[in-house]
Amino acid sequence: MQSISYDRARDVNHAIELARQHGAKFIGGGTNLLDLYKSGIEQPLRLVDVSRLALSAIEELPDGGLRIGAMATNTAVGTDPLVRQRYRVLSEALLNGATTQLRNMATVGGNLLQRTRCHYFNDPAFAHCNKRDPGSGCDAIDGHNRMHAILGASEHCIATHPSDMAVALAALDALVHLQGPDGERQVPLVDFHRLPEDHPEQDTVIKPGELITAVELPAMPFARNSHYLKVRDRASYAFALVSVAVAVDLDGGAVRDVRIALGGVAHKPWRALGAEALLRSQAITPELLARAGEAAVHGAQPRKDNAFKIELAQRAVVRALQTVIRKNGGQV
Ligand code: SF4
Repeated sequence: MQSISYDRARDVNHAIELARQHGAKFIGGGTNLLDLYKSGIEQPLRLVDVSRLALSAIEELPDGGLRIGAMATNTAVGTDPLVRQRYRVLSEALLNGATTQLRNMATVGGNLLQRTRCHYFNDPAFAHCNKRDPGSGCDAIDGHNRMHAILGASEHCIATHPSDMAVALAALDALVHLQGPDGERQVPLVDFHRLPEDHPEQDTVIKPGELITAVELPAMPFARNSHYLKVRDRASYAFALVSVAVAVDLDGGAVRDVRIALGGVAHKPWRALGAEALLRSQAITPELLARAGEAAVHGAQPRKDNAFKIELAQRAVVRALQTVIRKNGGQV
């Protein structure tokens, strides 16, 4: 087995300096990285432990938003009273992910950076995976692709992003705070993860040596009226076939504003902007919700094993919207 050198960072600047000097990888909870290391997919020579940095606070912002430190655990965020009250969809997404033990270790930063669970990527016995070995091909395209993408895929990769949390954050207009050798910057969550195009090995827009320091949730009063619906093969410890995060601002029997994002359908959390536009300022009817479901998967391109995801996603969007509308006194 290959040996790894390990450093524990004192603070954010120390972590960035260690990464800059040695080209090291950051490790937080390690719930995905250590699995990838054990299977030989990741082979870091140096690790910088950032798990004990003072980045785990969940703080209220003056405008009513929240700043969530990147080292806050999935359990801490999912059970936080302010998150539950103001951003219910985020709490539900987190508590629907993984297991209690994993949620107790996994961090917000690590959750955003987790790799796809495409089985051809995760098993080095399969020779062709452009994400693991750029230019080698894609065994999933003609293989067993029931779990794979129906939106935004390319001929180089049809993997899906596995995070539940990121789907909720996409619906909530979250911002990712980064710090690296060139200073600090913020990236909207919807632009943080990439579509595969011809470089599926790049999951995100993060630059070498950059560390995620926080996720910011802007004030969104109607995010109290929100819901995360996850459809999966078994009731726990399974990745989404399809998931939907919705938040709805109701104006009597109409939709004043709405956010919809889908998981399990693309290489990144998929914001359904067309469906949102269709719903805004419209009276709620069953027909309107059905049209929103269709709009959410507009342009879908199924593979041989996953055409079922199109109707599943349509129905999931409708059901998630119905759940929020009925819970808040609306009728549909
Ligand atoms: Fe690799 Fe992407 Fe193809 Fe899966 S879908 S085998 S991750 S290139």
